[in-house]
Amino acid sequence: MDFFWQQSLGEPLPAWSGAFAVLTGLALGSFAGMLAYRLPRGLALDRPGSYCPSCRTPIRFRRNVPLLSFALLRGRCAHCSCRIHWRYPVSEALCGLLALACWHVFGAGLYAWAALLMCATLVTLALIDLEHGLLPDQLTLGLLWSGLALSLVPKTAVAAHLPELPFPGARQAVAGAIAGYAALWIINFAWKVLRKRDGLGGGDMKLAAALGAWTGLNSLPLIVGLAAIAGLAVGLPLVLSRRAAVSDPLPCGPFLAAGGLFMLFLGPQAASVFVPGASGW
Ligand SMILES: [Zn+2]
Repeated sequence: MDFFWQQSLGEPLPAWSGAFAVLTGLALGSFAGMLAYRLPRGLALDRPGSYCPSCRTPIRFRRNVPLLSFALLRGRCAHCSCRIHWRYPVSEALCGLLALACWHVFGAGLYAWAALLMCATLVTLALIDLEHGLLPDQLTLGLLWSGLALSLVPKTAVAAHLPELPFPGARQAVAGAIAGYAALWIINFAWKVLRKRDGLGGGDMKLAAALGAWTGLNSLPLIVGLAAIAGLAVGLPLVLSRRAAVSDPLPCGPFLAAGGLFMLFLGPQAASVFVPGASGW
């Protein structure tokens, strides 16, 4: 049990532990890719096992190794040679890297597992939003409730080892969830008054609430601010080069997710830069 609960921050990460983290992340990334394909299409998640969406041939275990199989097959189905969707290698690589970051930042323990769960959910949500322009309730609300549940775990046992935890206590988490939803609702309301239609979806508001629950009220201004800046950085060139119109919907999920990940890994440091003396997370 020690491996799951003991915080080993400050001690160098043993190589086997880092390798375990990356393998866990790769497997989780593979699962995230499957979720991102099946969830928005309303397909069953448990059956059948992995299959090629083009020729429906089941993918054998040895051809289903994260990243390695994609590289060996040169990105094509072994049976029908159709291209394997980019979401699979991208979610596997992202989750592998994020898992290593979780172990490195939070030490092998409860908070590393929790952070990895948050990362994998955000990667899945970003992929689904990019492809379909929606954020499924199963993921946004699941993230919200798990963030609130985590905020109830007493931190006294680990606080000595992790003084700069980005995970908030219950008050900060509940306030963050409410403020996250409210902030995006207000932005959408203003947009509606100005442009007579919705600018954001309900999924964006639930995702902001979930991020508020995971990172706390203090993190929200930065998450929303970073998401807005990243959205402008991507959207403005598209509009200026006339490849998109101002009225085209730009999925907000990936930007909110990126803001949430930034605050997860760099939150305490960022807060001390922007709000001098704010370390009482
Ligand atoms: Zn195929």
